[in-house]
Amino acid sequence: MRESFPSEPPSTPRPEPPPPAPTPASAAAPAATLRVCVLGSGSSGNSTWVEFGGDAILVDAGLSAQRTRRTLRDCGLDERKLRAICVTHEHTDHTCGIARLHALLGIPAYANTGTAHAARNVPDGCWKCFSTGQPFSLGPFDILPFSLPHDAYDPVGYKIACGGACVGIATDLGMATTLVRGQLSGCNLLVIEANHDEELVRGATRPWRLKQRILGNQGHLSNSAAAALIADVAGDSLRTVVLAHLSRDCNREDLALETVRADLAAHGLERIRVLAAHADSPTPVCSCGCI
Ligand SMILES: [Zn+2]
Ligand SMILES: [Zn+2]
Repeated sequence: MRESFPSEPPSTPRPEPPPPAPTPASAAAPAATLRVCVLGSGSSGNSTWVEFGGDAILVDAGLSAQRTRRTLRDCGLDERKLRAICVTHEHTDHTCGIARLHALLGIPAYANTGTAHAARNVPDGCWKCFSTGQPFSLGPFDILPFSLPHDAYDPVGYKIACGGACVGIATDLGMATTLVRGQLSGCNLLVIEANHDEELVRGATRPWRLKQRILGNQGHLSNSAAAALIADVAGDSLRTVVLAHLSRDCNREDLALETVRADLAAHGLERIRVLAAHADSPTPVCSCGCI
């Protein structure tokens, strides 16, 4: 039996509760920000999470699907937000998890036709193709793929803009071309390769051909070249730099960080936070625009 107060006539409907007062902006959920986490980086595998609100993409899937999913869980990142994988080039340290992630999560992989054709470890049905240099949108993300010099079929870096912030990602590049410097200017966060220390490469017990490949214009960026690139493109809006794809044998984290920080300090840019990505563990989740 319905309980009612004696003073309330049974035929009178209960008054509607007043509508809730509008929530003050300061008490509302924080506005979405562009967030980035390098899940792992190095010659054993590369993958970077880029998130805005309820949507996310991966740039490359070079960790196994199992490790990618475990790392996302460990970082508190929700794989259900994933909309796509944007692929830089076909080397397996950037592509080996794509097929399985596509099968498990139903997400497509985006690449230019050259990379899609060259990535033999990815079934044709996974791909959606773009033209390098032509911007496209994926959910809330405005994405510009741009050419990089690297010994792959048609490698790219990405500039990803969303919610008024912008991330630039360039790993696996032999040199910083004018095009690369132009595309990485004006970003709030950069993920840039600092692959090796040139002296450590020259002193390493590796075949000369391999050393030539690493040091060449189609190979990988050294610490000092990365430092010069970052100092060159750093604008007022650049807050965070993540050094990526560090060589296990021909680099050291302290050396890479020291080289880049010293160069930034020489340009009066010590305010920029510089982190190193690791082969075996993720970086912190970095929000663009906050230090
Ligand atoms: Zn690579
Ligand atoms: Zn590569």
